[in-house]
Amino acid sequence: VIEIRGLHKAYGANEVIKGVDLVAPRGHVISLIGSSGSGKSTLLRCCNLLEDSQQGEILFEGQPVRWKGQGMARHPADKSQVRDIRTRLSMVFQQFNLWSHLTILQNVMEAPVTVLGRDKAEVEGKAREYLAKVGIADKADAWPAQLSGGQQQRAAIARALCMEPKAILFDEPTSALDPELEQEVVRVIKALADEGRTMIIVTHDMKMAADVSDHVIFLHQGLIEEEGSPAELFGAPKSARLRQFLSATS
Ligand code: ATP
Ligand code: MG
Repeated sequence: VIEIRGLHKAYGANEVIKGVDLVAPRGHVISLIGSSGSGKSTLLRCCNLLEDSQQGEILFEGQPVRWKGQGMARHPADKSQVRDIRTRLSMVFQQFNLWSHLTILQNVMEAPVTVLGRDKAEVEGKAREYLAKVGIADKADAWPAQLSGGQQQRAAIARALCMEPKAILFDEPTSALDPELEQEVVRVIKALADEGRTMIIVTHDMKMAADVSDHVIFLHQGLIEEEGSPAELFGAPKSARLRQFLSATS
């Protein structure tokens, strides 16, 4: 679904992604791990063009992103292509970002109705289905502030699902949660992985990464230091940096 080749991204003089290749085939779960500041969030944000990049190709379902300009002046050439990619990739953030003035059901329905222009009654049916899927059907009419953190994050996942995206990008979906609440969200992500959804997950949770991923990428200072299956990365890490990272996080 998503393919990145030789990506470079700098903030001013600070190059934070230094030539990264990443492929997320349909139905695969890719986890991105690495220490703070290694570029995980930046790489994820580049995937849905929330960030510009200076060099390299990004392909979405085989279609390359078209650029204009070069280097620091490079931007996507075509706004409709950007919109198209953003609506087909849903992103779930660490902070759930629910709209506090909308009920949970309204939060889940908002984008399909306003961005995609879908029929309201039809979207409501879908929204209720997704809320049931993440285990909070009974919270449809509650306000975000009335939900626990784990429930809010599950609502944010239902909202992402209601866009019926080609892939879901998660940026540390469990790290704002207490350990007990974290497990509720991990269970939902596992269920989505079992359904064969395409996902890229930035996470500090090595156990979840080991459980749900087809492929794990260890980023270090903007470069892929090591990648492979969970068994390879967690069972037999080759790089000394990865071994050190894993011993520090376990
Ligand atoms: P964490 O685990 O703490 O979330 P990360 O791996 O997600 O870290 P990034 O957020 O991608 O790291 O940041 C990578 C580097 O880019 C850091 O050095 C950071 O300071 C820098 N950076 C990130 N966002 C910006 C920005 N908007 N402007 C300038 N520099 C930024
Ligand atoms: Mg981050």
